[in-house]
Amino acid sequence: MNKPKVQFPLKPAGREELINYIEQKKLKDIDWKKGRAFCLVYHPGEERAKLIKEIYNMYFSDNALNPTATPSLAELEAETVSMCADLFNGDENVRGNITTGGTESILMAVKTARDWAKKHKPHITKPNVVLPMSAHPAFMKAFHYFNVDYIPVDLGSDYRANPAAMKAAINKDTIMIVGSAPSYPHGLTDPIPEIAAIAKEKNIFCHVDACIGGFMLPFVKKLGYKICDFDFSVDGVTSISADIHKYGYSSKGSSVVLYKNADIRKFQFSLYTKWNGGVYGSPTMTGTRPGGSIAGAWAALKAIGMEGYMEMAKVTMDVTNKIKAAIESIPELELIGHPDMSILAFKSAKVDVFKLADELNKNGWHFERQQLPPSLHFTINYIHRLAADEFINDLKAAVDAAKKFSLESLATGLQVKAVKGLSKILPSGTIAKLQKGGDAPVKKENTAAMYGMMGALSGTDDLEEIVLDFLDKINSVR
Ligand SMILES: *Cc1c(COP(=O)(O)O)cnc(C)c1O
Repeated sequence: MNKPKVQFPLKPAGREELINYIEQKKLKDIDWKKGRAFCLVYHPGEERAKLIKEIYNMYFSDNALNPTATPSLAELEAETVSMCADLFNGDENVRGNITTGGTESILMAVKTARDWAKKHKPHITKPNVVLPMSAHPAFMKAFHYFNVDYIPVDLGSDYRANPAAMKAAINKDTIMIVGSAPSYPHGLTDPIPEIAAIAKEKNIFCHVDACIGGFMLPFVKKLGYKICDFDFSVDGVTSISADIHKYGYSSKGSSVVLYKNADIRKFQFSLYTKWNGGVYGSPTMTGTRPGGSIAGAWAALKAIGMEGYMEMAKVTMDVTNKIKAAIESIPELELIGHPDMSILAFKSAKVDVFKLADELNKNGWHFERQQLPPSLHFTINYIHRLAADEFINDLKAAVDAAKKFSLESLATGLQVKAVKGLSKILPSGTIAKLQKGGDAPVKKENTAAMYGMMGALSGTDDLEEIVLDFLDKINSVR
């Protein structure tokens, strides 16, 4: 029997050793501090971050699980929820909680809708949720976990949710419909007023996923941009998710889920009254609730405030407009729809966008590759004021380089077809095997063929197996 590759440490390690080890490891990671990552990280500037961190650290060890032990955290959480309710035009009846992230907020909203329906619509035995194709996979995770069916509805030609089609998809077992403000893939806000009106007419819940836009759209709107109403000002909206750890610029591990009133939120709570350990009640998914995340969320809203968020939103939108104009000036690229805020995606009929992505990766840029249609995705935030010009230059150069590969992309197309046939017979196909370059699970360059292949296999069992293998590999010691 071979021992695991990394063994349990016998002696405590010294500070220097640990810090060095981490610093070395971190060299592999994206360099977001210079604005080279157009995803995952949101940074409000050193000064603000320092204050938020300080308050986070004040609760480093604290657990918000038992509010009688840490009433201060219960108060900070309630204040945070109230500040968010205010931002989202709710009234004093709005209730909510801080969660560890958008996914947990969405899990909670789906679970709450399911359990509310169980009580109020007992004739529904197999509840379903109607949502646009662009809705975040956190919903599918929730449906899977909570045994709820779902009906994904094609987007309109503008890549936004299509309310008429969503209405037609609703059946007697539908408990909720969903709209995004905006959608993650394309940064396009769904027509929430129309979606909420349908929910009201059909007497079902309407969840607005403002995970990415919650702490951007209100400020962008105030700056004078045209943004459709998406919050509690819209009649029919019953719940909202919004991530403070995205454009709220707080420490990671904080989001809010809000409900129109206390009667709805009650169905979110988990309760067990027969335990030897006493009556156990818990508001969200997790048991122990990290105090730092709650304090950090509160601190971000307080330390940045409307003025700070407006300032960051203005800078972010100026940078976005610059990058947008650059994309529009490049004849090979086409923006997907008309993005509402600082998230954009472009596609191309003339160059292989995955080839283009490989070129950009070579210069250290990090962003996301998307499918259906193949496109590249950029989340622009405050930090990109430091990098926009350099990015635009590199983008232009990368398009030129990708153009040279148009012949090669024909070969990619053939390769995709070959892989598609091959994957049916692969014993336990790993993504690594499908890449040139051997064993590394993610190689930054030369991934165009792999992404082309993934696009071709989208939604198939073959792709699922390949991705499961990949997840196993990347979650193991290498
Ligand atoms: C990020 C995001 C989520 C999921 O949030 P996590 O914090 O990653 O769990 C859900 N919906 C949208 C629109 C998002 O952008």
